[in-house]
Amino acid sequence: MKLLSAIVPCYNEEENVRCFYDEFMKNKPFFDRKGLDYELIFVDDGSGDGTAQEVRGVIAEDSRVHLISFSRNFGKEAAMYAGMQEAKGDYVAIMDADLQDPPSLLPELYGYLEQGYDTAATRRSDRKGEPRIRSWFARRFYRLINRMSDTEIVDGARDYRLMKRQVVDAILSLAEYNRFSKGIFSWVGFRTKWVEYENVERQHGQTKWSFWKLFAYAMDGIVAFSTAPLKIASVTGSLFCLVSFVMILVTIIRKLVFGDPTSGWPSLVCIIFLVSGIQMLCLGAVGQYLEKTYLEVKKRPLYIVKEKI
Ligand code: UDP
Ligand code: MG
Repeated sequence: MKLLSAIVPCYNEEENVRCFYDEFMKNKPFFDRKGLDYELIFVDDGSGDGTAQEVRGVIAEDSRVHLISFSRNFGKEAAMYAGMQEAKGDYVAIMDADLQDPPSLLPELYGYLEQGYDTAATRRSDRKGEPRIRSWFARRFYRLINRMSDTEIVDGARDYRLMKRQVVDAILSLAEYNRFSKGIFSWVGFRTKWVEYENVERQHGQTKWSFWKLFAYAMDGIVAFSTAPLKIASVTGSLFCLVSFVMILVTIIRKLVFGDPTSGWPSLVCIIFLVSGIQMLCLGAVGQYLEKTYLEVKKRPLYIVKEKI
């Protein structure tokens, strides 16, 4: 019998745990038909509400359900990683607890793996139900990162996917501290089938991603999968050296030929501001990479487990 593991990262999802379980179990006839066994791993990412309690309630009824509780909120990336480490399945799915990743799609995803794909991944076909400026920034982000990075980051890709064991092992072998899964999934390669579906609204509760959290995540993504900012910094530096060299020559020649004393400190102030601004910007870009390297070198664990059932 093959085993299918489903990983569900949860952060303050007490209202959704039960709904999710019920919805997931609608696949039971499908599992039986295919001779699949299943396990459900809820990863409680330091929730402050009754999420863990809800999961315990489900475990009391179904021994195939597991719980990993973190000692605090470590973020969805850490939760997904912990789930994958724990999953024993031949097939592993990652799904949100809020039912935005419909479990009813699992049979279709499984079908693609049977056809020989290694991963069946999902992407949203639209950005309905999302604030306009957020969509605008999201599109800009995907344009930018795909220009800067060799790893393709698919626009609208969700973390909802079904993978074969081999793919999960490959993902686990990337034990980096600064995890940007959208990039990691793509970086490991393998044959991926993209399945599109219309965006579903969250069942209960609110999204955990504020605009600034998303913005920071986008920056992490760029630093994790591109070194273009570093190259841009050095190219800008060289360009400025070249320009200033020409400017020095022009000034000297003008003085010698026309005896024209160069005047105008306002222009000078502007130039100083511009150049030092660009210097700070480049230094900042370098700083971003240094920060990530610093965190990476410390080799802190990605998460700390408080309880495991
Ligand atoms: N999540 C998590 N840790 C966090 C934030 C979110 O485990 O720090 C989980 C959350 O419980 C949900 C999934 O990640 O199951 C997606 O989060 P959310 O629905 O808030 O994001 P959105 O769908 O709005 O992008
Ligand atoms: Mg959601």
